[in-house]
Amino acid sequence: MFGRAPKKSDNTKYYEVLGVPKTASPDELKKAYRKAAIKNHPDKGGDPEKFKEVAHAYEVLSDPEKREIYDQYGEDALKEGMGGGGGMHDPFDIFSHMFGGQQFGGGGRSRGRGQRRGEDVIHPLKVSLEEVYNGTTKKLSLSRNVLCSKCRGKGSKSGASMKCAGCRGTGRKISYRELGPGMMQQVQHACNACRGTGETINDKDRCPQCKGNKVVQEKKVLEVVVEKGMQDKQKITFAGEADEEPDTITGDIVFVIQLKDHSKFTRKGADLFYEHTLSLTEALCGFRFVLTHLDGRQLLVKSNPGEVIKPDSFKAIDDEGMPIFQRHSMKGKLYIHFTVEFPESLSVDQVKALEGILPPKSSMKLTDMELDECEETTLHIVNMEEEMKRKQAHAQQQAYDEDDDEPQGAQRVQCAQQ
Ligand SMILES: [Zn+2]
Ligand SMILES: [Zn+2]
Repeated sequence: MFGRAPKKSDNTKYYEVLGVPKTASPDELKKAYRKAAIKNHPDKGGDPEKFKEVAHAYEVLSDPEKREIYDQYGEDALKEGMGGGGGMHDPFDIFSHMFGGQQFGGGGRSRGRGQRRGEDVIHPLKVSLEEVYNGTTKKLSLSRNVLCSKCRGKGSKSGASMKCAGCRGTGRKISYRELGPGMMQQVQHACNACRGTGETINDKDRCPQCKGNKVVQEKKVLEVVVEKGMQDKQKITFAGEADEEPDTITGDIVFVIQLKDHSKFTRKGADLFYEHTLSLTEALCGFRFVLTHLDGRQLLVKSNPGEVIKPDSFKAIDDEGMPIFQRHSMKGKLYIHFTVEFPESLSVDQVKALEGILPPKSSMKLTDMELDECEETTLHIVNMEEEMKRKQAHAQQQAYDEDDDEPQGAQRVQCAQQ
C-alpha cells in the first residue's frame, strides 16, 4: 500500500558479519560471535561500529524466530517487527548484558517531522496442516498503544508542550567515555528526561489519563481467518492496527503463516504425501488399509488384483490433496509413498518353496570359465545414512577451517597499519 511491505532483501549480511555460512548451527554462531566480539571490542582497540554490528547480527541469528524472519525477509522486516511487537530489545541492551554496561553509538529513533509512517508489526502464526486443510479462525489477544482519548494524543490538558530543558529540544544527549589513557569517545544517546521526544509537559498540565505519555495501552482481540489452502509464509494483514503514535500513520499488523510439520502427511503446494509401509506379502499379494484424512474422513486404500507394489514407489489418489487457496472446490493429489518391509532372513525350505514359484535366477547363468576370471569379494553391512552424514560433516569442517584463516589474516594486516 505504501510500498513498505517487507522486500526480499539482503538476508546474508548478518552471516557475513559473523563470518559463518547460512547453515551455521547455534553452536557455530556462538563460537563465531565470541571470536568477532573479542576481536572488535572497543576496550581492545576495536571499532565500536563494527562491534555493534557483530552484536546485533548475533542477537538476531541466535533467536530462532528472528533468524527465520531474517532469512525469509531480510533486515527490513526485522526492523518493522521490532516496533510494538515486543521481544526485540534495544540493540544496546545486549552490550550491557554481555560486557558490563558500556554503551556505544546513538540511541533514539529518527524524528522526522510530519506524517511519518509507523512500523509494521510482524507476528509468526503457527498453524497445523489440519487447520489449513479445513480452514479456521484464531482469536489472538494483543496489546497495542492507542492515542489517549482524553488529550487526543497531546499529553497535556492544555495541548501545550515545552522544549525539554535537558536536551534543548533535540531529544539527544552527548556524553563522553574513556576508551583508555588519554582517549575519549563521544557517545550520543536518547535524552532520558524526554525519552528522545525533545519535549516535556508541565507537571500540572499533564493529562491525567495517559500521564503525559500521549498513548495508552489497549487490549485488542484480533480474529485471524486462516483460509483453506493457505501456504506456508503467506501473510494475513490487519491494516492500521499496529501501535498508534502522534503525527504518525499507523502501521499494519502482519501475521505470517508458519505451517507446522505433520506426523503422517507432508505438503508440497497443493499436493499431499502420505507414508505407508507394506509387508512383502502385501506388496506381492495385495493389500488394503484405512487412511484417516486431515478432515477425519476414513479413506479405504486398496491394490488392484494381481498388482505388485515395488519398494519406494508412489501411487496417487486424485482430488484428495490440499484445497487450492480461494478455489476450495479444487484439490491437488494425494500421493502415497510405499516402503516395503522385507523379511530379515529365510529358511532353506522357504528358499526352496520360493524358487519353485518365482522367475528363475539370472546368477545361475555364469559359466565356470567366467567364474575363474573373477576375484572373490565380501559384502559388508553399512548404514548409508550415517556414512553420508559423516562424510558431509568432514567436508563442512574442512570448509570451516579454511574460512577460519581469513579473519586472522585480515587482523594481521590491520595491526601492521596501525
Ligand atoms: Zn492523555
Ligand atoms: Zn530531552
